[in-house]
Order: sequence, then C-alpha cells, then structure tokens
Amino acid sequence: MPNLYRDPANPGRLALDLAFYGRLADPARRSRVLQHTIPPRSGWAWPVQAGQVCRLSTPEGAQVGDLNLWNLHNPRERFWASRTRQLQGAHVTTGARLWSCLPYLRPMVTLIADTLPTAPTPHGGRCHDLLGTRCDPYVYQLLDGRDLDVTCHNNLTRAVAPWHLTELDVHDVLNVFQVTGLDPVHGVYFMEASPAKRGDYLEFFAEQDLLCAFSACPSGDLSAWGWEPGSNVDRAWATCKPLGVEVYDVAPALLTGWRPPESPQVRPVGDAPVAG
Ligand SMILES: [Zn+2]
Repeated sequence: MPNLYRDPANPGRLALDLAFYGRLADPARRSRVLQHTIPPRSGWAWPVQAGQVCRLSTPEGAQVGDLNLWNLHNPRERFWASRTRQLQGAHVTTGARLWSCLPYLRPMVTLIADTLPTAPTPHGGRCHDLLGTRCDPYVYQLLDGRDLDVTCHNNLTRAVAPWHLTELDVHDVLNVFQVTGLDPVHGVYFMEASPAKRGDYLEFFAEQDLLCAFSACPSGDLSAWGWEPGSNVDRAWATCKPLGVEVYDVAPALLTGWRPPESPQVRPVGDAPVAG
C-alpha cells in the first residue's frame, strides 16, 4: 500500500468529534429558517450563518448540482477543491469537511448527513465528486462548437452577481449528487448517471459565515450526457430537474463549546527564510 495523504483509520489532527456532528444531524433538534427551489438549468446564492445547518436536495429526483462556497465577509476565502481532495478523498460523504484556499486553510463546512449511496459502482464511480469541475460555456465552445449560456459557470455567475461577485470569483466546485471516477486504462475522468431519488439530500454544518451558490446543471442527471455534436444538450435537457435548498437553526445547546475553526499560523510566507 502506498503512503496515503490521509489515513482514514488514523485521522490524527483531522479527527472529528463525531458525536457532536451526529447530534447536529438530528432533525428533531432544529427549525427551518429558509426553503428554496432552484429551477432546472439555473442557479441561486444564499447566506448560511456559522452554526446553521444547510440541506441540498433533489426534490423531484436525480439531478446533479455544482456547489461553490465563500466566506460571507471575505470572498477571497473560498472553497479549495484540490486540497479537500487530498485531505478527504476524491469523493466526500458524512464526516468529510470542505476546506478553504490559502492563506486560510480551514474547514468551511462539515458534511453531517448524506442519503446517497457511498459504495462504489461496478465501474468504480463514487458520489459527490471533487475530481471534475463545473461545466462552462468556454469548454462547450471548445469541444462542441456551441455557445451554451446555461452552464453551471453561467448559473453560478448570475447567482452571485447580486452579491457583487463575478465569474472570476466562481471556482472549482463540489459536484453534488454526481457519480464520477477515473477509468483504469487511461486515468480519464468519467461520469455516470446520478443515483439520487426524490427527496435525497446532502447536509452540511457551516463552520463559518458563508455565501453559498448552487447550480442545477444543464446536463440534468447525466444519463444522456455526451460531447457528440448536435444532440447531446437536447437529450440531456429532458433529464433536468430542480434542486432544493433548506437552512436550519439548530438548538443552541447543541453548539455549546463549538467555535469557528481558525487558520494555521505561520511566519509571513514571503519573509526571508530562517537561516539554517
Ligand atoms: Zn454543469
């Protein structure tokens, strides 16, 4: 066995208080403060306060969604998919955390509930993907010769415009409800149809004040996805469904002793190195 970047059997400094997060997942100890449905092929952005729980769902069945996260007060601190991939794995589920970029490197959210399958598919695909990124109009033009204006990059950009952010703030995503992997022959990224059913969900606990944005992908449930020119988008169109967002306040007693995570403290990185 090669050296693992993080050994799940020996979490060390990444160890979680699983009992704490388990209590947060109790639906009897929370009250809903926000509910929203994102129509097919569109996006939405909303704040989640530190200490709240947010549920992302598939209210009408299988649909993949692309998630972005920012610090609500400082959008330079945003979700870092590649470091999260190293720290948690290429696919995430309950107990994983989504980490922020440098120079912050702290948990933005902790996943506390997931109703999707966690076992790999016969092809080795797993759900909630950190390997790929959002679809965007530039790659559609590059590979398919069409200017598609409802890609996840478009949808996320439109969603964050009222928050004074632009497409330059949109970043690599968590592909929620999306099953992916790397093919064993070439190591090339693949996507499988989403297994999400009506009412499935992924829940996270906000470790800091967040701006979240979520796009209902124009490739729908990915069952008809492909790059063949001319028809792929039209076939995928028919599989598109809405996505659900809910935010909850949790019972204050559940948060006793919890504090938002702090960033690791290091010497100023551009300073001259210490001799020796
Ligand atoms: Zn997409």
